[in-house]
Amino acid sequence: MGRIKTLSLNLVSLISAGEVIDGPWSVIKELIENSLDARATHIDIEIRSGGIGLMKVSDNGSGITKDDIRLCGLRHSTSKISTREDLESIESYGFRGEALASMVAVADIEITSRASGEEVGSKLVSRGGERRVLSDTSRPQGTTVEVTNLFSRVPARKKHLASPKTEGQRVVDVVLRHAIGRPDVGFRLLKEGQAAIDCPPQDARDRVAALWGADVAKNLVEVDSVGPSMRVRGFVARPPVSRGNRSHEYFYIRGRPIEDTHLGGALESVYSSVLMRGRYPVAALDVSLDIARIDANVHPTKREVRIEGIEEVIAAVKDAARQALFEQTPPQEPAFLPSSGVGVPQLTPTSIGRQASAALESPRKEPLLEDALVEADTLKASSIQKSEDTMQLPVLGGLFRIVGQLQNLYVLLEFEDGLVLVDQHAAHERVMYERLRRELDRGSMPVQELLEPIVLRLEHEDCERVLELALVLNRLGYAVMSFGGNEVLVSTLPDVLGHQVSDKEVLSIVDEILDLGEKHASEHFMDEVVKLTACHAAIRAGQPLNTDEIRDLLTSMANTPNRYNCPHGRPTIVRISSEELKKRFGRIQP
Ligand code: ADP
Ligand code: MG
Repeated sequence: MGRIKTLSLNLVSLISAGEVIDGPWSVIKELIENSLDARATHIDIEIRSGGIGLMKVSDNGSGITKDDIRLCGLRHSTSKISTREDLESIESYGFRGEALASMVAVADIEITSRASGEEVGSKLVSRGGERRVLSDTSRPQGTTVEVTNLFSRVPARKKHLASPKTEGQRVVDVVLRHAIGRPDVGFRLLKEGQAAIDCPPQDARDRVAALWGADVAKNLVEVDSVGPSMRVRGFVARPPVSRGNRSHEYFYIRGRPIEDTHLGGALESVYSSVLMRGRYPVAALDVSLDIARIDANVHPTKREVRIEGIEEVIAAVKDAARQALFEQTPPQEPAFLPSSGVGVPQLTPTSIGRQASAALESPRKEPLLEDALVEADTLKASSIQKSEDTMQLPVLGGLFRIVGQLQNLYVLLEFEDGLVLVDQHAAHERVMYERLRRELDRGSMPVQELLEPIVLRLEHEDCERVLELALVLNRLGYAVMSFGGNEVLVSTLPDVLGHQVSDKEVLSIVDEILDLGEKHASEHFMDEVVKLTACHAAIRAGQPLNTDEIRDLLTSMANTPNRYNCPHGRPTIVRISSEELKKRFGRIQP
């Protein structure tokens, strides 16, 4: 090995710049954050060749004075903190005074700015790492930073840049995260000469609609949950809105976009009963908590922050999302089934709330059905004539006729504008799941005492594990106790399972519980047990149903939240429109 040398200052700045500047996305991120720190209300961004060719960010913020611009791009030059105490309570996005200096080190950069109160603006140009302050320029108040030749002096870094297309997408993602987080600021992104984003300062919901599309916006539920030490605000989307990856799980801490796998996991756990495996939620949530609990100074690009008491934040995010998703009255019932043009009255939020909260125990007496039958009389003429086989459930899309059952698996319904298939098992599973969750939340899960308790003989290890879980299983309706040896006595079962449960079925339930592989009574474990109980309680695939049973199923479904997916996230309803049928039969041109 050679001898130790002290690196030249030039080399040191190249190395540290490499930590801050990872690619065009991080340049853009730093520049946007500087503009936000300067209280800009509009930020204009332009990139060419994915940012590798050119990046330019202009704002109408406070600007940089002529005196200050001389210091811009020198290392550790910042106007944002000056004392060690300041580091404990960083209100601004930036604070290290490293971003512009890093850009000077690894790219060419031009800053023009006019500060409020100054007559003319000034300009700083840096090429090849050499900074020069130029004469006065005229321009409106604000700052423009132009960055070119990124990494042209650092071939090793340049080689690692992705294609302009990929780098460009990363830039779009950064701008989106900031734009969703700060709807009060106007954002424009010109990408390869085309406007990719163009939003005026607006309302948060309008911003989401503009950037994530009307479909997502329609299904957004507002989150605003204030706890003793923090507030969680933002939006979560109700299914069927979801994504195939985590790209739309946005988190902010006090407005700073962050990436945190814990928070993502927490959010996903809330959605686990309504999204299919491999589907991910769409949400944007900001957590505001005491500034002293946040350390943003742990990651070179500040993507990650350290939070004191992260468990508390995770719990708060979960609670807030769950409340918004499952307990709040939806602002608008998502119309998975079209109202079929038969004049179905728009449901008001209060009536949905009433239906959703009305007990599931007595679906037959549920006011919804009575209301619905009365409303049916006021419907305009429909191709479906009211008869013994028709039913009217606004939340399922209005008046329909029960056609029958297909393969003892699907219930077939004729609507005015097409055919609807209901997966009898999946749909009933959801009904049972929601009922169990509600009972569990109330702390009173109805159980059946078994006249003859069931004795299960298990492997030694399994036996121990079941007994370890006895307390929580008891809460979930399964009273288990040791029967000596490797035997376990089951004396109660959840009432929903019905009264003819065989020993074999109980054994298979216990096996499934053991298969969950969890020793601890985590919330996730409880939810999984509820799911598998619901599965065993639900109408089987293959079970023949008569019209009355179908009516019961549909009525209880109409009164169940999240009714369009089973607890595993599979759809419960598939709709084939008349339009589609006509196309298939060549009655109209596709
Ligand atoms: P930091 O943001 O950590 O302070 P930067 O290198 O990003 O460090 O910026 C250095 C300084 O330049 C900032 O502290 C600020 O005073 C000034 N500055 C940079 N960009 C802008 C801007 N868009 N508007 C106003 N001032 C800016
Ligand atoms: Mg900065």
